[in-house]
Amino acid sequence: MSGVLKFFEQVNWNFDKAARYTGFDPGLLEQVKSCNNVYHITFPLERDDGTIEVIHAWRAEHSHHISPTKGGIRFAANVNEDEVTALAALMSYKCAVVDVPFGGAKGCVKISKHKYSKAELERITRRYTFELHKKNFIGPSSDVPAPDYGTGPQEMAWIVDTYKTLSVNELDAIACVTGKPVSMGGVDGRAEATGLGVFYGTRHACSFQDDMDKLGLATGIEGKTVIVQGVGNVGYHAAHFFQEAGAKIICITEYEGAIYNPDGMDIEKVMEHRKAIQSILDFPDAKNLPDRNTGLEIECDILIPAALENQITMNNAERINAKIIAEAANGPVSSDANEYLHKKGVMIIPDIYLNAGGVTVSYFEWVKNLSHVRFGRLTKRFDDNFHSSILSTLQDLFGEKITPEHVKQMGYGASEKDLVYAGLEETMMSSYNHIRDTFKTVNDDIDLRTAAFIESIRKIAQFYVDKGIFP
Ligand code: NAD
Repeated sequence: MSGVLKFFEQVNWNFDKAARYTGFDPGLLEQVKSCNNVYHITFPLERDDGTIEVIHAWRAEHSHHISPTKGGIRFAANVNEDEVTALAALMSYKCAVVDVPFGGAKGCVKISKHKYSKAELERITRRYTFELHKKNFIGPSSDVPAPDYGTGPQEMAWIVDTYKTLSVNELDAIACVTGKPVSMGGVDGRAEATGLGVFYGTRHACSFQDDMDKLGLATGIEGKTVIVQGVGNVGYHAAHFFQEAGAKIICITEYEGAIYNPDGMDIEKVMEHRKAIQSILDFPDAKNLPDRNTGLEIECDILIPAALENQITMNNAERINAKIIAEAANGPVSSDANEYLHKKGVMIIPDIYLNAGGVTVSYFEWVKNLSHVRFGRLTKRFDDNFHSSILSTLQDLFGEKITPEHVKQMGYGASEKDLVYAGLEETMMSSYNHIRDTFKTVNDDIDLRTAAFIESIRKIAQFYVDKGIFP
């Protein structure tokens, strides 16, 4: 089945599997599933040596049931129209799962990033933004990009700067893109948001005794063995928070290979090592594995694929030895491998829920930009004073029972980052509860991915019903 399916077909296969539990009209379901717009752009790049190269890029807006659409921009060598469409569709379902009021979109630029100088990347990013602007494929109320594979705050800074020069009188121009540096209107906590969401979501999934009993695992994160594939933005931050919560990072795989230590290794030291020699290999506290793919097959409690799609397929599913697969990347498990592993009893926490931390905090950033005020600016000092006065009243009443530690924990008002983390944690926990409720109530052997798709299809389809488009 899906071994030969293209990426968008795989997404639609998952959709169809879930749709039959929703009871909506087949025509309406077809509308929810269809990609509304795909824009293919080519433009010339003048390389630093004066030669001209034609760059191919795309922006897909999967669903206009709500505006704006939202989704990252990927810089990668192998991208194509099918991939960008599939990723845009996943964004629609993801936004619906976590109740973020956006339709799904995705952008891709077909380049191998390391082959270009910083100046060339800047020219590509600015020209791409210009092309999107020309056709209204970017804007605070139409389509709002964000970082994805191969892009980060630097590219987002170039995008907002270009957009602002094209829209001089637009008051909300800064909300045209998220994942910006904080100095350019970003929100504190966005850089780590996807990895942190992966952590919050997995931690919550691991908190249910009956679910963990089925896997033969204890509840909680502490002591669990973890493998991370890809320590870029998402994978590194996820590893950081798992380690902080007491998990053991026993294997890390990267483009250049894989390293393994059954007793665990310090992710911060691995990152320092990689920065120094441009490779995770030969890390002093671990042994090199023969190749990057064998790293995925080592026995572990939690496997976190955080690189790209189709990393676990029927080619290697049989050799996967994880009890939980936490899908940090988009589409890392093919749909046939998903079926196989589900039947084998592996818990797969699906991408359309688990990596939604990025778009959730992007939503916070967009709201911040539209309101033109930093979260907590009006309340922090008031809360500082209010909490301090409660503590001093309690101190008068209970004397020494109020320690300096209590004052440190409670005597302050929330910063922007505190609020962002709390909003993200609440989103990840409450969304999982909804998915799990659906998972438990559907009278069939469905998996968590199907439950998450059921949730999002219901929400998106209901928009059309409420608009009266499908009475
Ligand atoms: P990134 O470019 O920062 O990091 C990806 C890392 O994966 C890189 O270090 C790369 O070298 C490594 N990698 C590539 N191929 C590999 C392979 N075969 N084996 C091991 N490592 C490999 O990208 P990112 O932003 O962290 O995105 C990773 C995934 O998460 C993508 O699927 C992306 O769509 C998804 N995602 C990202 C965000 C976000 O906020 N950045 C949000 C949601 C989902």
